[in-house]
Amino acid sequence: QLQDPNLILMASASRFMRFIIMGPPGGGKGTIAERIVRDFPIKSLASGDLLRHHMAIKSKLGLEVGKYMNRGELVPDSLVLELIIEEQSKAAANSHLLLDGFPRTLPQAENLCSRMQIDRVMNLDVPFNVIVERIKGRWIHPGSGRTYHTEFNKPVREGFDDVTGEPLIQREDDKESVVLDRLSHYKDLTEPVLEYFRQRGLLLQFTGSYSNEIWPKVHEFLAQEIEPLQYTKYS
Ligand code: ADP
Repeated sequence: QLQDPNLILMASASRFMRFIIMGPPGGGKGTIAERIVRDFPIKSLASGDLLRHHMAIKSKLGLEVGKYMNRGELVPDSLVLELIIEEQSKAAANSHLLLDGFPRTLPQAENLCSRMQIDRVMNLDVPFNVIVERIKGRWIHPGSGRTYHTEFNKPVREGFDDVTGEPLIQREDDKESVVLDRLSHYKDLTEPVLEYFRQRGLLLQFTGSYSNEIWPKVHEFLAQEIEPLQYTKYS
């Protein structure tokens, strides 16, 4: 019922590329996606941003998805699909496209691929233990939002804010058990999606522990497909 044959025809006849970026929570996907749209003429569609926008404007869809998002649960496939299909057909008509945060489940991937041709899926392959170490060391000053890290950005006095001297706290969802939960949830849902794209020969793996390690590889790949916007340094 969501299908529009004209849009599908237009999309498949266009020379615009369609990429998907995937990666575990806390793996730096946001950083890489930002650099992609900074350096290449690619429009990004982030499902989380679109959903939050609908919540903010209190659209019918926004009101429906709010209860799932507030609980940190995935929004039902049918609602996400409706949104993405509509938005991507607008965006893909005149630009290269990067889908970010979508598809997250196998039914989403199958549905998407039945509507549009996907050129490449870039998976950021960041070891889970690296992510856990990074997130669990993060502490914040609740008053100001200042963040510290027990290894990379220590406060002068352990456990206390440099500016106010007030105690630092750890966000609930930065605690090790919560991070591990999220990662295993991600793995359960997205492994089948990765496998789906792997079988279709679309999957590219970009392995590394840090964004600065992964970014040059992503840049190199994309520069073969699309003319970069400007000369870019690999950072
Ligand atoms: P995060 O990476 O922290 O999950 P996102 O911005 O990608 O952040 O997503 C925020 C929320 O939006 C998710 O927790 C989920 O409720 C919803 N969401 C985003 N994308 C999808 C999707 N493809 N399928 C289902 N729910 C989604």
